[in-house]
Amino acid sequence: MSSKVAFHTLGCKLNFSETSTIGNQFIKNGFEIVDYNEIADVYVINTCTVTENADRECRQIVRRALRNNPNAYVLVTGCYAQLKPDEIASIEGVDAVLGSNEKFSLFSYINSFEKKNYSCVYVSETEELESFYSAQSSDADGRTRAFFKVQDGCDYKCSFCTIPLARGKSRSMNPNEVVQQFTQLLKQGYKEIILTGVNVGDYFYSKNTDNSTSLDVENKFQPDYDLYQLLQSMVMIEGDFRIRISSIEPNLLTDEIIDLAISDERLCNHFHIPLQSGSNNILKLMQRRYKAEDYKELILKLTSSIKNVGIGVDVIVGFPGETEDDFLETYNLLRDLPISYLHVFTYSKRPNTKAVDLSGEVNVNERKKRNNMLRILSEKKRQDFYRKMIGEKVKVLFEDENLGGFMKGFSSNYVRVKYTFREELLNQFASVIIKEVDENICTVEIL
Ligand code: SF4
Repeated sequence: MSSKVAFHTLGCKLNFSETSTIGNQFIKNGFEIVDYNEIADVYVINTCTVTENADRECRQIVRRALRNNPNAYVLVTGCYAQLKPDEIASIEGVDAVLGSNEKFSLFSYINSFEKKNYSCVYVSETEELESFYSAQSSDADGRTRAFFKVQDGCDYKCSFCTIPLARGKSRSMNPNEVVQQFTQLLKQGYKEIILTGVNVGDYFYSKNTDNSTSLDVENKFQPDYDLYQLLQSMVMIEGDFRIRISSIEPNLLTDEIIDLAISDERLCNHFHIPLQSGSNNILKLMQRRYKAEDYKELILKLTSSIKNVGIGVDVIVGFPGETEDDFLETYNLLRDLPISYLHVFTYSKRPNTKAVDLSGEVNVNERKKRNNMLRILSEKKRQDFYRKMIGEKVKVLFEDENLGGFMKGFSSNYVRVKYTFREELLNQFASVIIKEVDENICTVEIL
C-alpha cells in the first residue's frame, strides 16, 4: 500500500500553485495525496507570512495533523518557514522545516519520513533566493482554471511588507519555458490560465541574467522580455483559452497591456490593481511608487477604453499615521471611482519592516471600523457592477462541477454567474446574456 501525504496551504494563489508542484514530487515518489482531514503518513504545511498570527495558526494546523495521526511526519515550508525557522522548529510535533528554495527538491533533502519526536530537521541552504522554480496548479473546481507562476520575489520596498524578505529578489521564468508550459496546460484541457507571481507586472527576463532551473528548451526570444511581450507571445498561440493576470501594480499596467486587452479578447478585461491607500501621505510612508492621482487616472483610462472592465482593488486600513482624514481620502476616492470590488486588509505589524518603527499607531477599534466601512463599500460596488451588467452579452467559462443542479462560472470581466447544470457546458465557454443579480451572483440565459 502506498504512503499517504496531505497538504495544507496558507496564503496566496502563488502558494497554492507551489503546493501542487510539491505534491507532484510526492506522487513521483509513490505517495498518494489525501485530504488534510484524513489519516496520512506525512503532512505538509505551506505557510504564508501575510497571515496574521501565523505562529498560532501554524500550531493549530500541526495539532490537527497529529490528531489525525500522532505518528505522522510533519513538514513545514513556505514564507513563514523561511523567515522564522526557529519559531516553527520549536512547535511540538514538527519534524522538518524547509526553506523557500528547498521545498522544490524536497526529496533530495529528506529521504526518510520516519518520525523521530526528539529532533527537527531544518534545511535552508541558500542565503540568497535567486533561482526561479516553476509551479502550476488547478483551481479547486477541477480542470477549468490553472494558476501558473511566471515570476517570483520582489524588488519593491513597501514599508509594510515582508514578502521580499521571504521570497527574495524579483526573478522571472524563461519565456521559452513559459510558452512551452502554457501550451502544455492548454493540452491538459485548462481553458483559463491565471498568471501568478509576487509582482507579476515586474516580469522581466533577460538572457544575461538567466536563473531558470531547467533550460532544456530552445532559446529563440530576444535578450530582454517584459510582461507585455510575454502576453503577446501567449496570445499568438492558437486555441480557445483566456489569460487572466492575477494582480498588477498600478505603475506597471502599461498602455501596451491595456491595448492588448482591447484588441485580443483572450486577455481578460479584468485587472486586480492594489491601491493600499488613497492618501498621498500614507502612500509615501508605505513607500508605494505612485500617487493617488496616478491611480485615479489609470482607473479612468481603463474604464473609458475597455467596455465593462472589471477592476479589483487591494486596500490596507489602519497603517501607522493614518488619520481620519487620510482614511476618508481613501474612502472617497474608492467610492467615486468605477471599480468593481475591494479586498480589504487591516494593517498589522510585521517584524523587520520599516513600518514597525513608524509612529501614530491606529487604535484597534478604529482599524476595525475602517475595515468594516470599506467592506460595506465593496459589497455596494460589486452589486452596482453586477447590476450594470444586466442585459449585457458576455462569454462565460463554466466550471467543471455540479453544485446541486447548478453550475457556476466567471465572465472575462470577473462577474460570477450561475446556470442550470448542463453536462455539455462543463469546462466550456458559452455566450450568455446576464438576466438578474441574485445577491453575489448573476443568473444568465444561454444565447
Ligand atoms: S510590491 Fe510591495 S506589497 Fe507587493 S510584494 Fe513587493 S514589497 Fe510587497
